[in-house]
Amino acid sequence: MQVTGHASSQETIALFDKYVIPNYGRYPISLVRGEGSYVWDAEGKRYLDLFPGWGCNILGYCPEPVVAAIQDQVSRLIHVPNTWYTEAQGRFAEFLCTRSFGKAFFCNSGAEAVEGAIKLARLHFDGKRPKIITCENGFHGRTYAAVTATAQPKYHAGLGPLVAGFRYAPFNDLEAISSLVDDETCAILVEPVQGEGGVNIPDDGYLAGLRKIADEANCLLIFDEVQTSMGRTGTWFGYQQWGVQPDIMTMAKGIAGGVAAGAFIATEEVAPSLRPGMHASTFGGNPLAMAAGLATGQMIEEQNLLENCQSMSDLFRQFFEQLQTELPIIRELRVKGMMIGVDLNIPSGPAVGKCMERGLLINSTHDTVLRLLPPLNVTVEQVEEGCEIIATVLREMAEEE
Ligand SMILES: *Cc1c(COP(=O)(O)O)cnc(C)c1O
Repeated sequence: MQVTGHASSQETIALFDKYVIPNYGRYPISLVRGEGSYVWDAEGKRYLDLFPGWGCNILGYCPEPVVAAIQDQVSRLIHVPNTWYTEAQGRFAEFLCTRSFGKAFFCNSGAEAVEGAIKLARLHFDGKRPKIITCENGFHGRTYAAVTATAQPKYHAGLGPLVAGFRYAPFNDLEAISSLVDDETCAILVEPVQGEGGVNIPDDGYLAGLRKIADEANCLLIFDEVQTSMGRTGTWFGYQQWGVQPDIMTMAKGIAGGVAAGAFIATEEVAPSLRPGMHASTFGGNPLAMAAGLATGQMIEEQNLLENCQSMSDLFRQFFEQLQTELPIIRELRVKGMMIGVDLNIPSGPAVGKCMERGLLINSTHDTVLRLLPPLNVTVEQVEEGCEIIATVLREMAEEE
C-alpha cells in the first residue's frame, strides 16, 4: 500500500478534517519536499523558508550530511532504551558538553527538557526550596510545569490548578527578580533571548545580574536555550554571547537538524542531584536522534556556519535598518544571530499571508513582531530574495495604513 505520495493539499486537508484534532491554526497547504532553504507544496509551488521548522530546521531542509548520518544509523539501530549504552549518545553528549560545560541528559522536546530542568532544580535542594522565578513574555513549553513557567495568562486559561511555586517578573528587570528571590527559591529560569515573546534581547548586564542574584541567594540559574542553542545566536549557545554560564541549560528545536531531540546540561556540581530512578525518558537519547545531532553539529563546524550566521545576521540587520528609515511602521529591530524580530506599530499577522502569496515563509509573534529564524547556512542570495519580498509587503501595508 502506498502510504504517502501525491495527495493534493485539499485531499490531505480532508484527512485532517476527519481524523486530526483541530488544535492548531494551519495554513491550507500541504508541504511535500524541502531542500536547503526551499520547500515545495503538494501543488508544486516553491517557497523560500526563512522560518524553517519553527527554528528546528537549523540547517534548512534535508541537509546532506544529516540525511546521510540518519540513513546510516537507521539501517543499524533505530532505538535502544537507556538501560544500555550507545556510542551515538556518548558522542553527542561529548560534542555538546565540550562546547559548553557539565553533563547532559537527553529527552525529545523543549518542554520535556524544561520539565527535567525544573525537577533537577527542586531535587538539588532536596525539595526544600520549591520556588522558581521566571520572566513575563517568556515561553517554556506546554506540559504542566513548563506552561506554568510560561507567565502569560493566555497559555493558562482553563488549565488550573497549575503547578505550585512559580513567580513571575518582567524581563530585563533585575530588581523585580531580586524582590522575588528568597530562601525557598531553587531557581531563576529565563531564556537568554526571548523567542516566542517577540525576540527580546537582554540589556547589557542583565544576564550577569541574574548570575549575581542567584549566587548571592545560593539558588540555581537555568537558561532555557531551546531556541537559542546550536549556533542560533552565532555562538554554540546563547549564554556565550554574554559570557554568563548557567547551572542548567535546556535545549531542543534545532539540536538534531530537524529530528525530535531535547536535552539539558547541568554543571558537574548539580548533575548528580538527578539521582538514579528520579527521572527518565524512554526515547531520550535514542541513536537516530543522536546521530542526527552529531551530524548537525559537525556540519556547523566543518562549514563554518557560526561565522556565516554572524555575517548573514549583519546583512539582515543592514537591510532592515535601511528599510526602517523608509518605513515608520517599523518600530524596532531586534537581531541576534539568526533570530530576527521586526517590531511593527501595526499587527504583523497579515504580512505572513502576503509573503506566502509571494513565495516566502516567515512568522508573526507577539501580535506585532515579524520573526525570522533563518537556517545557519542561508546564503546572501536567499537573504536578498527574502528581504525584497518583505520590503514589498511592508511598503504595501504602510500604504494601506
Ligand atoms: C519552543 C520552545 C519550548 C518548547 O519546545 P517544544 O519542543 O515545543 O516542547 C521551550 N522553550 C523555548 C525557549 C522554546 O522556544
